[in-house]
Amino acid sequence: MTSRLRLAADVGGHSIAVGIWDPERALLLGSGVVDTPPDRSVSSVGTVLALKALELCEDLGVPFPSRGGVALPGMLDRSRSVLVSAPNLCWHDVPLEEISSVVSCAAGSSVELYGENDANCYALGEMMAGSAKGLSDFVLFTLGTGVGCGVVLRGRLLIGSNGMAGEGGHMVVRDDIPCGCGGLGHLEALAGADRVEARGKRSFKEQWDDFVKGTPSEALEDFLDALSRGIASAVHLLDPEAVVLGGGVSRAQGLLPLLADRLEPYLAGAFRGKVRLILSSLMEKAPLVGAAMAGEMRD
Ligand SMILES: [Zn+2]
Repeated sequence: MTSRLRLAADVGGHSIAVGIWDPERALLLGSGVVDTPPDRSVSSVGTVLALKALELCEDLGVPFPSRGGVALPGMLDRSRSVLVSAPNLCWHDVPLEEISSVVSCAAGSSVELYGENDANCYALGEMMAGSAKGLSDFVLFTLGTGVGCGVVLRGRLLIGSNGMAGEGGHMVVRDDIPCGCGGLGHLEALAGADRVEARGKRSFKEQWDDFVKGTPSEALEDFLDALSRGIASAVHLLDPEAVVLGGGVSRAQGLLPLLADRLEPYLAGAFRGKVRLILSSLMEKAPLVGAAMAGEMRD
């Protein structure tokens, strides 16, 4: 008998989250996190992912799923079913089939895994079981070391002609500052926590805590300004019901009201006072939930 359960994974440069999702009950039965292997190769990542999934299945007393999805930190080309580039993993032109094959081999059980961009999975997860439940048009930004983005329109993930739509972290918000992707002046280059930390030479949290108490910070002014410009552009382009903010940085104390103030001058009059900013509720579980079902929510 084929298991109805779905294997879900969220692969990052530092850690890999793995979960078992029950689509009928819309419930994450169990999940766990393992370190990303130091060599970050497809083979090592797939193997530790499979072993963690086997452990979860054993603990839960459920069969190993035959389907599922993996949230990946990069741009995917759906027409070729290839992960084009994931700089944090040093993966380039990796066929998604290779990931399924490595996991199946290590688990000793065949599993078909669908690959999806991690921020897109995050958006799907929030729509299915988090703070975007009930919304059909929204933009989600994940604020962490970088800035990810997922766009849902009419209840479907915005895919684009090559599968790379919704790369809102690479919206142009300035005319200078090189971004890690090779472009210039992108949102992530100013609003990624990595960049704020490199500029301020302290953790984002330490800088933020001082900033909200009144200590001036050019890096955090730029962070807020870039994010406001990015959100305003997304709102003008898509007219969403809400803008959802997820990722660790979204929990910075008092971020939402500060951002709402900074956003206003960038908005066209018709949008002022109408942008609904909300926080993600699933946080790190969101990409897992979205990855589990991404394959079934594709167009
Ligand atoms: Zn960029």
